[in-house]
Amino acid sequence: MRVEIITTGTELLLGEIINTNFTWLAQELNQRGFDVLYQTTVGDNPARMKEVLDIAVKRADIVITSGGLGPTRGDITKEIIAEYCNVDLYMNLEVWNHIHEMLSRRNICIATNNEKQALVPSGAIVLHNEAGTAPGLVLEHDKTIFVMLPGPPFELKTVCEKELFPYFEQRFPHLGIIKSHTLKLRGIGESNLAEMLDDIIVNQSNPTIALYARHGDILIRLTAKASSAEEADVLIAGMQEKVEKTVGTYVYGYNHDTLPEVVGKELLCRQKTIAFAESCTGGLATSMMTDVPGSSAYVKGSVVSYTDEVKNLVIHVSKTTLTKKGAVSEEVALEMAEGIREAIGSDIAVSITGLAGPGGGTRKKPVGLVYIAVADKNGSLCRKFVFNGTRTQIKQRAAMAALGLALD
Ligand code: ATP
Ligand code: MG
Repeated sequence: MRVEIITTGTELLLGEIINTNFTWLAQELNQRGFDVLYQTTVGDNPARMKEVLDIAVKRADIVITSGGLGPTRGDITKEIIAEYCNVDLYMNLEVWNHIHEMLSRRNICIATNNEKQALVPSGAIVLHNEAGTAPGLVLEHDKTIFVMLPGPPFELKTVCEKELFPYFEQRFPHLGIIKSHTLKLRGIGESNLAEMLDDIIVNQSNPTIALYARHGDILIRLTAKASSAEEADVLIAGMQEKVEKTVGTYVYGYNHDTLPEVVGKELLCRQKTIAFAESCTGGLATSMMTDVPGSSAYVKGSVVSYTDEVKNLVIHVSKTTLTKKGAVSEEVALEMAEGIREAIGSDIAVSITGLAGPGGGTRKKPVGLVYIAVADKNGSLCRKFVFNGTRTQIKQRAAMAALGLALD
């Protein structure tokens, strides 16, 4: 099946936003056996959009648009395609009710221009959009299948994963299906992981295996191509077993699991409370933990001890240690963890002290150097890390590493 992707929006042509919708769609469609042959970007202009459609229908079987399904006058994709296919738009009650419900949940008054989003071209299939108000649409005309997707990337992905790809699987069964499964790891870097899995990586075929780092997580993505979901599950399970035989001790969760959630569940299960003393992360580890609903059951409290003064006055790190060893040291990390545990009275305490940069690094203490200590009733331990990246990335990596250590 020949596909052309048309991304719409003047802001794309002005170079104000990056065309991530195209990259994502192209990867997903190629993996599923579609041939993405052309991509076009066009502004929100009726004449030019028609021109682009004229060209696309001649060289593609499926024409997929992104953007321009919003409630404003500038959002014209659906109207132009309906006109192009010579069909009317009608008010779809199901879509209207969904828009109503979405907006009232967010306490937003419904405006007359929202009615525009409930208009559906006659004969189109509605792709429900649980992430937003404008649904995706599939409209067949002559020999072309037009697919219209909302522009906001999260909405586009949701509509594709929940509605469009399952529809394509049914419609084009001979293309097979693609299924992915992600393993999430802690306590190991990407290059060490690649080394440990070298054999599997070199000999991969189906499923394929990809390693990558995102938001402080190390991920292994297994992707299987099969003729049915069941067959894909079997292929993935086989590969997962091989991977976990080698690196299973580092796996903390799968797919949508997050480290703060997993740590929280473990603390609940062990009936333990936790406290943090954070320096270079400025409260990020605590913030991540308290993003999880119900975290008050195990997060007891936290101190952002950013200066030596606060480290000494509030959590009783000795002035001598601070002067002799410096704030970024194993000794200070250990005293921070022990001090916060005593001050707050938690079962477990985690401390983080390091250099997030970009300035301030030396040969002995480079930017990215972070000490993380954990204390409980049996004693305390400290680990040294040297993280790469920008200030924000170092903070994020340090906070994730701290949560990972809290589990040990
Ligand atoms: P809305 O209801 O938000 O108006 P829409 O379907 O009309 O949705 P657009 O108005 O075209 O979509 O785009 C909305 C926003 O989505 C843009 O401002 C931009 O932030 C993002 N967006 C649109 N197209 C792309 C793209 N190709 N790649 C990445 N982001 C995009
Ligand atoms: Mg719009």
